[in-house]
Amino acid sequence: MNTSSGNTVKVLLIEDNPIHVGLVKTLLSESKSPFFQLQYAGTLQAGLNQLDAAAVDVVLLDLTLPDSEDLDTFIRVRSFAPTVPIVIVTGLDDVKLAAKAVEAGAQDYLVKTQLSRTSLIRSMRYAIERTRVRDAEWDSPMFRLAQRQFLKAAQFMGLDDNIRQRLLFPQRTLVVTLPFRRDHYTEVETVFGYRVQHILTMGPTKGGIRYHQDVSLGEVSALAMWMSWKCALVHLPFGGAKGGVRIDPTGLTSHELQRLTRRFATEISPIIGPDKDIPAPDMGTNERVMAWIMDTYSQEKGYTVPAVVTGKPLVLGGARGRNEATGRGVVYLIQEAAKHLKMNLSECTAVVQGFGNVGSHAALFLSELGVKLIGVSDATTGVYNRHGLSIPSLLEYVAQNRFLEGYPEGDHISNEELLELKCDILVPAALQNQITAENADRIQCKLLAEGANGPTTLEADEVLNEKGVFILPDILANAGGVTVSYFEWVQDTQNYMWTLDEVNQRLKSILQDAFRRTLNRAQKNQFDMRTAAMIEGVERVAQAKLARGLYP
Ligand code: GLU
Repeated sequence: MNTSSGNTVKVLLIEDNPIHVGLVKTLLSESKSPFFQLQYAGTLQAGLNQLDAAAVDVVLLDLTLPDSEDLDTFIRVRSFAPTVPIVIVTGLDDVKLAAKAVEAGAQDYLVKTQLSRTSLIRSMRYAIERTRVRDAEWDSPMFRLAQRQFLKAAQFMGLDDNIRQRLLFPQRTLVVTLPFRRDHYTEVETVFGYRVQHILTMGPTKGGIRYHQDVSLGEVSALAMWMSWKCALVHLPFGGAKGGVRIDPTGLTSHELQRLTRRFATEISPIIGPDKDIPAPDMGTNERVMAWIMDTYSQEKGYTVPAVVTGKPLVLGGARGRNEATGRGVVYLIQEAAKHLKMNLSECTAVVQGFGNVGSHAALFLSELGVKLIGVSDATTGVYNRHGLSIPSLLEYVAQNRFLEGYPEGDHISNEELLELKCDILVPAALQNQITAENADRIQCKLLAEGANGPTTLEADEVLNEKGVFILPDILANAGGVTVSYFEWVQDTQNYMWTLDEVNQRLKSILQDAFRRTLNRAQKNQFDMRTAAMIEGVERVAQAKLARGLYP
């Protein structure tokens, strides 16, 4: 859900009957994912005051209040906060009035005497989703960032205006809604899913699938665009794609995850395939999810099609080294940047934000090179130890407890504090939009290696460049994942498996080559590294477009 703090939903209940307030409170208090933060008001005026004072994700509204009645109550809330979804809570004798409010623009109504935890939560979730679909599918900060980065590169390189227009939006987008059954057999959830293909010019399209409660068309489109530049930058024969489902996967059982995945795979199957578009893991998905997609697609075809996804388990045709490839690639590039900056890695300190697949592997490989890891974090907490953290011990702790919270060998700090620690190398490997105009001047690293996609805003870029921070931009720094995905696809289409050594050697030389080209371009034209990397990618795509010409 599109809420200020990710998985927290802020609910304003405007209701004068304390018994009903108590009931809603009880029903919502049982839910952890999402977590509901409930505030309530006994009169319309008090409700409007609260709407004015703080951001609210959804309003639960009783139409009969001491200071307002009937449709007028709804109209006054709607005109006061036109973008906030409203769910009417009504008594049985006022259902007709509630239905009128829905006709007038309320998202839904619920009958107080029939209220259950499921009906209440579902109604609010759908209300938020529908409002979001109506208002904000394309309008995402991430898509705006991706477009602005592209426009900046286009301007610096003098890109042909026709091509600039063509590349600014994805070529093909598929929006689906899909139902899946909860383990409680009577409950069926409907969620939104996406698959976006940015450019079909370069070969099949390629990119991950993300399961997260904030996924939207704009976010997936931004990520697809970045995949295009990333693939072109490292010279892979792919255009960019990305997919996602708007759901918090941590709230699902393994059976639910499987049913959701299989149905999503079926919904997008018309536009994926080994020669069309090849998904891979991203945030919230992993090799198990890829195995289910591969199986679903293969069942529908009637024969096994390993090359339809990458990042699969080894036994299904996965590539050796794919699981850790993004983290390994980040570290290969840090080694190149360190050579260039004359930093001796065994004397360096590092901070890694995010302890998922990318962050934990980057931390491990850095520590193997003798870098002292002084801070790591995940969604629950940051851990700081200026004497150095033991990555194997952290990995063991997370394997047992899932999250870093409670890890004993360090001080617990927030994710914001973590980013501002004094260190040589900072690796943001969690979410987008972490280094912004607000905190950029407090970032104290020498080298910033972006394991995540889109962690730094353009405004922050300017501040960091001014401060002389050397940036390994996301499309370069995290390109190791898709590079080994390419190896996996090649191996699957040829039925020929490589050794881990072959995979790592080839990965290293591809990334070293991309680093050298980017650095040369940056130095020759006095571009920052992000602009140089973007231009490397955009130029290749533009050349391919011109070479193919225009159909018809
Ligand atoms: N999701 C990864 C990325 O953002 C990997 C994509 C792939 O392997 O196709 O680069």
